[in-house]
Amino acid sequence: MPLHDNRKGKLFIIGIGPGSPDQMTGQAREALLQSEVIIGNDTYLSQIGSLINGKEIIRSSMGQEVERAKRSIELSRSRIVSMVSGGDAGIYGMASIVLEVLEHEPCSVPVRVIPGITAANAAASLLGSPLSGDFAAVSLSDLLTPLEVIERRLHAAFSMGTPVVLYNPKSRGRPHHFALAMEIAGRYREAATPVGIVKNAYREGEEIMVTTLGEIMHAEAAVDMHTTVIVGGEESRIWRNGDDVKGIITPRGYHKKYVY
Ligand code: SAH
Repeated sequence: MPLHDNRKGKLFIIGIGPGSPDQMTGQAREALLQSEVIIGNDTYLSQIGSLINGKEIIRSSMGQEVERAKRSIELSRSRIVSMVSGGDAGIYGMASIVLEVLEHEPCSVPVRVIPGITAANAAASLLGSPLSGDFAAVSLSDLLTPLEVIERRLHAAFSMGTPVVLYNPKSRGRPHHFALAMEIAGRYREAATPVGIVKNAYREGEEIMVTTLGEIMHAEAAVDMHTTVIVGGEESRIWRNGDDVKGIITPRGYHKKYVY
């Protein structure tokens, strides 16, 4: 579906990026400006405040994702609707549930998923270049995935030897998942492995911390639900400028081929 077409209703599923409006794509901005109705939860709506002035706003809470998806489809039969997710809507976001509900609805509303900068990109950029090549991502939230499946995935991810990005590392309801993940990481990685902790990337309250797997439990208090954690891979190292810790570098392998 083109961004502009003259059918009556349509549905955009938009990733608005990590927070600051600067981190939203031009395409996401244009879709929001075109929309008549905007649906999302409060955190995301407040991040895009000035772009959605004068539009009908439907605020929804966490835990109401299925109703939110149904409502957005219903409204998009006759109006231009944007459903907003933080980061990228297709990565731990609302895109799949909207598409799944649509599979069961006999309706031909044009739908378009618009990508956004996901927390892994945002956090990685603030740490330097900790991902660089292959990496794995695991969410520690057991709201939709049983804990034993998460544990199995953590073993698989850390056994790859690549950096691992942890989404949803901790929340009040599951304070111990992070310690469990670090314990599993320790079985596959040396204590000197760098770990980056990025809280509130590109939004108010931004904090960036670099530590090591051996020291990580001293930094545990800094980890919460607004944080993304990147555990380095076998080749990752701390990026320094003199004595200053600047971030994390995971070499892509150019040093094996070139002298620089
Ligand atoms: N769809 C989102 C992820 C939603 S899951 C995306 O693509 O980024 C929520 C988790 O994402 C949080 O618990 C946190 O781990 C991470 N996250 C989202 N925004 C973040 C930000 N601005 N800074 C750091 N982590 C963030």
